[in-house]
Amino acid sequence: MAGLLPVAEALSRVLAGAEPLGEEWLALADADGRVLTRDIVATRSQPPADVSAMDGYAVRAADLPGTLPVIGESAAGRPFSAPLPPGAALRIFTGAALPAGADTIVIQEDAERAGDQVTFAAAAPAGRHIRVAGLDFTAGLAGLAAGTRLDPRKLALAAAMNHARLPVRRAPRVAILSTGDELVEPGAVPGSGQIVSSNALAVAAMAKREGAIAIDLGIAPDRLDETLAAVGRARDAGADILVTSGGASVGEYDLMREVIAREGAELGFWKIAMRPGKPLMMADLGGMRLLGLPGNPVASFVCATIFLMPLVRKLSGRSDIETPTEPAVLGTDVGPNDQRADYLRATLETRDGTLVATPFPIQDSSMIRVLAEADALVLRAPFAERAAAGSPCRIIRLPR
Ligand code: AMP
Ligand code: MG
Repeated sequence: MAGLLPVAEALSRVLAGAEPLGEEWLALADADGRVLTRDIVATRSQPPADVSAMDGYAVRAADLPGTLPVIGESAAGRPFSAPLPPGAALRIFTGAALPAGADTIVIQEDAERAGDQVTFAAAAPAGRHIRVAGLDFTAGLAGLAAGTRLDPRKLALAAAMNHARLPVRRAPRVAILSTGDELVEPGAVPGSGQIVSSNALAVAAMAKREGAIAIDLGIAPDRLDETLAAVGRARDAGADILVTSGGASVGEYDLMREVIAREGAELGFWKIAMRPGKPLMMADLGGMRLLGLPGNPVASFVCATIFLMPLVRKLSGRSDIETPTEPAVLGTDVGPNDQRADYLRATLETRDGTLVATPFPIQDSSMIRVLAEADALVLRAPFAERAAAGSPCRIIRLPR
């Protein structure tokens, strides 16, 4: 293995050949965050007829000013059934259909009602306070384009265009396997030399926030039969991605390679020019992609952020695949960098309107508490020179 693989190259290998998943139809209530597979066309116009924008009276502008008889009312959902004759007024409410013949609305504050009569002291221009049919959208309009990611506002538009179900990309199914003889599930009583597994649930929570369906395969000890069985369970669960955590030391790597060979595939193993998170494994198990994250909790989290989440977003059909970064300034001096990109755990604060990122003094990749307290990762490029407090940097803001 010649040298270390740059992060960008590793990411493009992870994403290579990953295509957005197939289509499914979902009820609106289940479709938030999903990506449309087709244009969604308005089946009707909104509003469907000319309606009043205010509570008041529908009249003919030509009849004003003056005192007119009130001949009935039009409320939202209960229109007045006849045209408005000349010399008459109709009580009308917001969203109610304008009767034929009426051409303006006078708001109730500008009307003096006395029994069945209403007096308008001033004239009103035609068209005032009227929402014309199709003001919002007209039937046939492609209000939402294929490729759009649904959010609460876009779901509201789909509903108004009278769609109950929408065609969307399937959500990636992400199965997560923790490997290691030393691991026990949270809440168990660890034996001598054992630790509590923390990676899988973090990865599952991250994947879910990106809209994936997470499947926890539990813990497999470092044994061929158990690991093979877990791969089988991932396939049975219809996983699109099988994420393993741990198993990146030499003996364990040989185990994973054997597992993947039995699956008839080849295991890619790369040493990536990044800290934390040097080793990454990848394999294509015929429709199920294996991504092997390092076991170190911080390395597992950073590699999930940098490699797994973009893969989840790409399979979901999203266009915002890249991990977003932001500018900030350093809160402390940082030393020069070697050949590996650094992802420094840091706190964020705003000082005089400037975002300041201060890396923690200890960056050991096993330290879950520091990771939990961090607000951001400060990016340090390979061979970056030493940088003084106050110099610009780029950060990845960590989701809360
Ligand atoms: P490995 O990649 O399996 O060599 O693991 C590297 C380090 O990460 C070891 O100290 C493991 O005990 C630790 N580790 C592996 N898996 C997990 C996990 N699921 N949760 C917490 N620590 C882990
Ligand atoms: Mg291990």
